[in-house]
Amino acid sequence: MERALDEAPALEFVVDPDVVRRSDDERTQILGAPGFGKHFTDHMVTATWTPDGGWHDARVRAFGPITLSPAAAVLHYAQEVFEGLKAYRHEDGSVWSFRPEANAARFARSARRLALPELPEAAFLASLEALVGADADWVPTGGEASLYLRPFMFASESFLGVRPAHEVTYCLIASPAGSYFAGGVTPVSIWLTTDYTRAAPGGTGEAKCGGNYAASLAAQQEAIGHGCDQVCFLDATEHRWVEELGGMNLYFVHADGTLVTPSLTGTILEGVTRSSILTLAGELGHRVEERRVSVDEWRDGVAGGEITEVFACGTAAVVTPLGRLAWDGGEVVMGTEPGPVTTQVRERLLGIQYGREADTHGWLRRLA
Ligand SMILES: *Cc1c(COP(=O)(O)O)cnc(C)c1O
Repeated sequence: MERALDEAPALEFVVDPDVVRRSDDERTQILGAPGFGKHFTDHMVTATWTPDGGWHDARVRAFGPITLSPAAAVLHYAQEVFEGLKAYRHEDGSVWSFRPEANAARFARSARRLALPELPEAAFLASLEALVGADADWVPTGGEASLYLRPFMFASESFLGVRPAHEVTYCLIASPAGSYFAGGVTPVSIWLTTDYTRAAPGGTGEAKCGGNYAASLAAQQEAIGHGCDQVCFLDATEHRWVEELGGMNLYFVHADGTLVTPSLTGTILEGVTRSSILTLAGELGHRVEERRVSVDEWRDGVAGGEITEVFACGTAAVVTPLGRLAWDGGEVVMGTEPGPVTTQVRERLLGIQYGREADTHGWLRRLA
């Protein structure tokens, strides 16, 4: 498929000057207790792609409903990909994103897998700057609050035939988010599903697409039904190798200080948080390994004291300690408090993101 996007001229995001903004009072009230994913800023970004026109009509306009034909391909065949990153307000009032180039690159990889057109990295970054520039007042201050940014792309063409869409919409929305752990970091419980898998070799597990999440919901319901917070998936072939949670990667802390994370096999989503921790943990003096981890190693390792902490990581919840792993017929308990290594990694990552610690890797990019 010829998409010829490299030759496209730079996309310019035109800001609609007539957008009606919420009052200062209303915004302040929302930012006081934003929760997660419930409230949205005054603006959103949209752009359209067609085979002949490439990416065009890039705009920053009022947040609001999108008109879509009931025959829009995304509603039938789920041709959609998304990203998730945050804008952090620093002490001096400036607003920064964390490794957005990595999100841009992953967005392009996901798009390729779903036969969607790639949005050039420069356009992806420009859209973040345009939206956060227009809605800078919506970036919360203090604690671990942030403005969650959600870029996504979907098949908007009205056509029921099965083929890559000839009209695609890019959209970016922003949602103020409070601290994930408002009452202090507490370990979560995990259900190990043996009925469901998330991703199979050759499938879409490596791509960040809505379809993966749709496929994970029944397993997540199963986890809730067993009194657990989240579900953990094993590989689809041997049902033996630990992959990841529905939306977070995993790390195992060993008694000798080594951190182990499941290697990227093609069925695991490569998290920006996961790869950042590979670097940071090494700098903190830990040995880090990417290799396969069997569910037996997890169970026996915790029971025998070889594995001392397990945590999950991802943009939304940063670093989350896992307290308990349950399965059909048993459970092991990692702990009821976040472990020292989990806490150390979490603090280092947040320290960089919020500008409290030196950004020695050039991971921060100013948005406003
Ligand atoms: C987004 C996502 C992650 C975490 O990725 P980050 O870039 O660290 O936010 C992990 N697993 C899945 C399935 C995801 O969709």
